[in-house]
Amino acid sequence: MSDQVADVVIIGGGAAGCAAGYYLAENGVKATIIERDGVAQAASGYNAGGLNPLEGHGWPEPLQPMALQSFRLHRELWESLPAETGIDYHGRITSILKVALDEGELEELRETVQIFNNAPEPGFSAEWLEREDVLALEPRLTGEVIAGVRAVGNGALDGMEFTQALAAAAEKRGARIVTGSAVGLRVGEGGVESVVTNDGEIPCGSLLIAAGPWCRTAEQWLDIAIPVDPLKGQIIRVKPSGPGLTYELIGGGSSMYDKTDGLIWCGSTEEDAGFDLSLTEEARASIMQRAVRLMPSLADAEEVLHTACLRPVTPDWLPIIGRAPGWDNVFISTGGQKKGILLGPAMGKGIAEIIANGATDVSLKGCEPERFGGTRGD
Ligand SMILES: Cc1cc2nc3c(=O)[nH]c(=O)nc-3n(C[C@H](O)[C@H](O)[C@H](O)COP(=O)(O)OP(=O)(O)OC[C@H]3O[C@@H](n4cnc5c(N)ncnc54)[C@H](O)[C@@H]3O)c2cc1C
Repeated sequence: MSDQVADVVIIGGGAAGCAAGYYLAENGVKATIIERDGVAQAASGYNAGGLNPLEGHGWPEPLQPMALQSFRLHRELWESLPAETGIDYHGRITSILKVALDEGELEELRETVQIFNNAPEPGFSAEWLEREDVLALEPRLTGEVIAGVRAVGNGALDGMEFTQALAAAAEKRGARIVTGSAVGLRVGEGGVESVVTNDGEIPCGSLLIAAGPWCRTAEQWLDIAIPVDPLKGQIIRVKPSGPGLTYELIGGGSSMYDKTDGLIWCGSTEEDAGFDLSLTEEARASIMQRAVRLMPSLADAEEVLHTACLRPVTPDWLPIIGRAPGWDNVFISTGGQKKGILLGPAMGKGIAEIIANGATDVSLKGCEPERFGGTRGD
């Protein structure tokens, strides 16, 4: 495929791989990204694009410091990348309207108020809303609403365009993007010497595995554990008969995402279905049933697109970021779980600095590849 030696070959053109390519270029290191299906054609292209750095699996410890750092990086990136690449991915500060349809959901609302009003950084706040305040704010909501919370300060963007903008900016700075499938490695005395693809070999100084839920393929190549498994998520995009949302809407088991084109994305499922990507009637029915319960007028909405993709999830729900155990020139960046777009910039900057300089100031606590035990040759 190429005799040109890449400083770093990255396997995977999702948010993890493209962010690494971008920050490697910022550090003067030229990467070649190998992607088999096109940049952002997996989860990084079909996610909801929500950026909430205050809540999630692994919060507040150990992931919150990395999440807040990543959120700051997002705000820097959306000031520069759209102008630099011509790709507007609509990065913006937004808000969440969380509502309770029964007493059981009130506790989660109280937690959100607590979390947003005690955020470790300025810019976040939340207020409790009585039933009538909620319905005044969004009259299309069901009369079943008993209370709500308006939380401000989180962000949103379009994941596919964001990832493509990272790739385009990396390319402008000297990275290469190659269409192909990595099928093995050539290993010599100094470690990995080249990546074998379906179309020849790409010699490399170092290798970064950023293949999302497909990282386990590299376990056999490297003789180490990279325990990442797929968690399937289906989303239905609808065109409402009236205006779209201007905030993320959560309640009654439904999440709806505001998009700048007026569509509402209704999500999502969490299915343990291996690598199956089929669009199922069962998921459509369950997503739309919950969405219509929350906002009855969506019964008339036109379905625009139904998608499925796979979140990369590790056994402890924390990413894997760092040098591969037992290898000098192999690195891993994966496991972004339900937050891989939010965490993408920090994951990319962190691993790029480790590769380029041997250390990073990005907080990667809890993400050490060694924690799953086993090293090459064990
Ligand atoms: C329904 C849903 C909603 C989500 N919503 C959000 C959200 O609101 N906010 C948020 O932060 N996150 C969200 N996520 C999570 C986020 O999308 C993922 O964590 C993130 O996109 C993972 O990025 P990645 O680059 O690690 O993996 P991927 O995007 O899967 O990219 C990996 C790439 O590697 C390529 N690849 C694999 N093996 C090979 C090989 N051998 N050779 C060449 N290429 C290979 C694949 O083709 C793929 O393109 C959501 C996910 C889902 C499913």
